[in-house]
Amino acid sequence: MDAKFSAEAKDLMGKRGLKEADVADVVKTAETSNRKITTGKVNIAKKRIGEVTVYAKYDADGNVCNAYSHRMVLGEPVKTTDTPEITKWECVHCKEKAIAGTVNMTYMGITRSGPAIVCPKCGDSWVEEYLATKTIAAAEGLFEKKKA
Ligand SMILES: [Zn+2]
Repeated sequence: MDAKFSAEAKDLMGKRGLKEADVADVVKTAETSNRKITTGKVNIAKKRIGEVTVYAKYDADGNVCNAYSHRMVLGEPVKTTDTPEITKWECVHCKEKAIAGTVNMTYMGITRSGPAIVCPKCGDSWVEEYLATKTIAAAEGLFEKKKA
């Protein structure tokens, strides 16, 4: 499946400094490997490209409605509760409902835990847009300031 981009999606990606080819690559890789989360209508896929993890949110026809990225590297899930909240997302690879979990995030040699959508079976994790563009972007900025 080839990714398709609306004018809005292109505009958003331009503002965020994301390349169309990279986002298309995220979609292609996810569809080939079956590694993505889905609500049944919308998919979220991610891929590490260079120094960033690029995300694509797209429908069953490959129409990309959102794309974003973060620089932190997602690590192992951290168990914080025995009764995690189940999300609307399902890990397509495992056919398992994903949970609102916590994962280790490493950036510039520092590791902190943060919220993510986690598959309890394979342990893979995904960050939603509001976290990537707000919380994580702010944390990355703080880390960079400390190292400067
Ligand atoms: Zn899984």
